[in-house]
Amino acid sequence: MKGLLTEIRHCSVCKPFLPLGANPIISASPKSKIVLASQAPGKIAHEKSIAWDDPSGRRLRDWLGVDEDTFYDSDNFAILPLGFCFPGKGKIGDLPPRPECAPLWHKKVTDHFEADPLYILIGNHSQRYYLNDNLTLTARIKAFESYLPQHFVLPHPSPVNRFWMAKNKWFETDVLPVLKRVVQQRLA
Ligand code: SF4
Repeated sequence: MKGLLTEIRHCSVCKPFLPLGANPIISASPKSKIVLASQAPGKIAHEKSIAWDDPSGRRLRDWLGVDEDTFYDSDNFAILPLGFCFPGKGKIGDLPPRPECAPLWHKKVTDHFEADPLYILIGNHSQRYYLNDNLTLTARIKAFESYLPQHFVLPHPSPVNRFWMAKNKWFETDVLPVLKRVVQQRLA
């Protein structure tokens, strides 16, 4: 796994399409118990070379019920976005993850896990990639229990999604308590 992560961190396959250049952000260990599969690092993550060190990350840790030390221990959580590099900004928010990345690298990483981890699929990009369906994000999350025990589906914790949270209050009351329980069981 160590050699593979070094290889990934030197990857520049889609460099011509990356406005700020390649800076692959990934964290994983053969012992990872939970995989966080989201879309791609944002500009702040690119500049800091660290994922989830922002308001979205704080909200995600709150949803998971874990502190920073637990979160950034790769024996607990693998951070495996669909694209490892910041893809640039579009008209509305960040561009989608580069399509080259997940097919090129994900299976090579996940083949190294010693046990079957829980995949927490954050947002539409990772859910479409791993679940290969045409459901809406809301429909998937309403049916979250049907994806367990292998997958847990979540919306992106970005503050931009506060309107979705406000409209779907069941997410906080019905989904998050189960998420916290499942995460604690996996980390125990
Ligand atoms: S996004 Fe993925 S495939 Fe593209 S340069 Fe970065 S690590 Fe390589």
